[in-house]
Amino acid sequence: MMERLTIEVPPESICVKSAECPRGHSLMDSAHPMGGVASIKLVVISSKGEGELFLNSWYGNFEYESTMELVEGEVCEVVCPTCRASLRSEEEHCMFCGAPMFVLRLPQGGVIAACARKGCHNHKLKIVDISAQLAQLFDLDTRPRY
Ligand SMILES: [Zn+2]
Ligand SMILES: [Zn+2]
Repeated sequence: MMERLTIEVPPESICVKSAECPRGHSLMDSAHPMGGVASIKLVVISSKGEGELFLNSWYGNFEYESTMELVEGEVCEVVCPTCRASLRSEEEHCMFCGAPMFVLRLPQGGVIAACARKGCHNHKLKIVDISAQLAQLFDLDTRPRY
């Protein structure tokens, strides 16, 4: 029997240190820092064309910089800057607006999913291997069991 654990995090208390495309390319760009840390670099494709998109790595911060103007309300395609693999999720759609979600892979099976519609701020953080993550946060299994 697994217990469900809900973790609430205040905005900008978690900083993404490692995010990858589905083929394992790092999306972190230390040459383009935002908020004092490496940003997440993506390529965004919209009706206006294609450009680079830099996301702030602080989870819950929606600041971004783009080399191309993004149209409010438009659903964009987001691809890996290295291999151009689509980051669009096959299964997930935004529970608010129905647009596809795009997914950033985190270490140990975690993901960040975010709505691909400009202006919709729906996003979520999923940590799959929670025991491994918790083991790093707390000293699990270090006390003797009686
Ligand atoms: Zn890639
Ligand atoms: Zn949405």
